[in-house]
Formats: sequence, structure tokens, C-alpha cells
Amino acid sequence: MNRASTIGRAAYRDIAPYAPDRTPCRIDLSDNTNLWGMPPAARDALADFSAERYPSVYAADLKAAISRYTGLPAEMITTGCGSDDVLDSAMRAFSEPGMRIAFTEPTFAAIPLFARMNALEPAVVPFDGLPGSGARVIYLCSPNNPTGTLTPRSAIERLFADARADQVILLDEAYAEFAGENAIDLLRDFERLLITRTMSKAFGLAGLRIGYALGDSALIGEVEKSRGPYKVSAPAERAAVAALTDGSGWVEQHVSLAIANRERLAVELRARGLAPLPSAANFLFVPLAHATTIAVRMRAAGVAVRAFGDPDGLRITAGPWAMLEEALEVLDEARRSCA
Ligand SMILES: *Cc1c(COP(=O)(O)O)cnc(C)c1O
Repeated sequence: MNRASTIGRAAYRDIAPYAPDRTPCRIDLSDNTNLWGMPPAARDALADFSAERYPSVYAADLKAAISRYTGLPAEMITTGCGSDDVLDSAMRAFSEPGMRIAFTEPTFAAIPLFARMNALEPAVVPFDGLPGSGARVIYLCSPNNPTGTLTPRSAIERLFADARADQVILLDEAYAEFAGENAIDLLRDFERLLITRTMSKAFGLAGLRIGYALGDSALIGEVEKSRGPYKVSAPAERAAVAALTDGSGWVEQHVSLAIANRERLAVELRARGLAPLPSAANFLFVPLAHATTIAVRMRAAGVAVRAFGDPDGLRITAGPWAMLEEALEVLDEARRSCA
């Protein structure tokens, strides 16, 4: 009856399409994008864009700009259609179908999905169990999505020291700009570390789909084989280069604002008897009973936040204060109606 279930790859049988509720909402605090908009320098770069030519095969101009931004040579950099694409390509590059990828929970929801897309077995293990998990690839997100938690430097170093000789560590630093620290310097001592980054969050370019990874040139070469050519579109590359080389300080200013408003939001939530987790990203995770129901009611009132179960809670993106003020009012109302 269901022909699609037998015609597809066996490993795909359990895969459901990624379907978050993306109905447009008056205030959308659900995806951790930059709620102040995109950098004016990137907008200007797109103004006279013309699309008749192919982009560069492996985004050479973007690599050069990332090289200046990170201080790493271009051969230690690869790019992709969002960091999603880089993570997906990396899983494929370093493992054979049937191998395991290990991570702690809760973490970035796309990881088990990409694992299945690559016929890998997703394995949820406690942090200290990562090296002994038998996984070829270990995934760690810091600051973590959805909790905002930063993994202490000492724990990251311990993980690297304990990792087996055949294990690759994917360290997802999608929120590094908000954290004030990153693990780039550890690339010197650990050649099986790949750090992934995105232009979708602090840099305000989610719609253009631009991500990148940093690592030893041998790792980078394998990821590029798996990624394939022409994955960063020409307007995306152009806007990303403009955003990275912009001297105006727009990105830094809005990172600071996001952090300040996140802390102000935390104060307001604590005043309501809630206990948001300490965050090093541009969002807060607020443990909350009936989170899913509350999120549905908030959405009906025009404010989208992301609900999670296990642990139950809401993830709220920090944006302009007027938006957060309104979100608080709508949250109060939704909680009253759930009491
Ligand atoms: C948003 C996010 C990404 C995805 O970034 P894209 O570059 O837009 O694909 C990757 N990892 C984490 C943890 C994220 O929160």
C-alpha cells in the first residue's frame, strides 16, 4: 500500500520530514536568528547582484574572509549551505553506513535526523561516556542548543584527551559569537577536531544558508569531497563576505544587545518564580511544566517560542526589548490560563 516505504533506502524508513510549526507569527522568538535584521553591509552587497554565473566551486572568497575573521589559514576552512550541510557532510565523510554517532541530550535536534540521513546510528550517552561509546563521530554543541549551556573548557579538553585514535569530534559553535570564548586554539593540539559555525545566528543571514567548519586540512579535505561543489550560492557568498569584513561593528553591537536583553529577560522570568538556565547564547531555556500547551497558547496570541519536552521547557530567542516585553505579557496570560 505504502509504496514509498519500500522504494526508499532502508535507513530512511523512520525518517519524518523536519516539520517545525513555521506559520508566520507576529513576533517569532522560536529559531534564535538575529531579530534586529541583517547587517546593512550585507544588504548593500546584494543590491546590485546579478545571478547568471555559477558561484565559485568551493567558495574561495568566503574562505578568505573567514580566514581573516578566525586567524586560520584557508586550507583549515570549509563552507556549506548552512552549517547543517557541513555537519551532514562531515558525518558522511568520517563514517561508513551503520556506524554510530554519539551525543548527549538534550542537544541540537537536527543531529539524529542527519545521522539517519547518512544511515548512522544515533547514540545518546552521558558526557563522560562519549569516548567509550564506540562511536566514530562524537557531536558536542557548546553553547548548547536548546539549553544555552557552555561546556567548561576543562571538560572539552578532557573529552579530547580521552577520545580514541579513530574518533572525530564535531564541536558545534553555532553560538560562539555570544559566548565570548571558543575552542579554535585547541585545533593546534587536536587534529581530529572539526569546529562548525554558522552565519545564521549572530550574523543575521539565516535565509542565505551559510555555514563553515574549521579543522585540520586533512579533515577539511574529506568534508569537501563529501560536501561537493557549488554549495554556497553566489549571493550568499557575497553577503557573507560583506558581513565578515564590515568594519561598522554592526554584528558586535547586536551581539552585545542580545546578551543584555537575554539577561534582562532572565531577571523578569526569575521575578515570576521561574528559573531560566544560565545561557551563553542568544536565547534562554526556561524549564516549565506544560511547556507545549503554553507555547501553543502563546503562538495563538502572536508570539512564537520553541517548546521542548524532557526536560519540559521553553526556548526563547533574545531580541529587541519591545518584543521580549510583549512575549512576557503573552507568557503570563498563557500561564494563567494553564493554572
Ligand atoms: C541554528 C543552528 C545550526 C544551523 O545553522 P545553519 O547554518 O542555519 O544550518 C547548527 N547548530 C546549532 C546548534 C544551531 O542552533
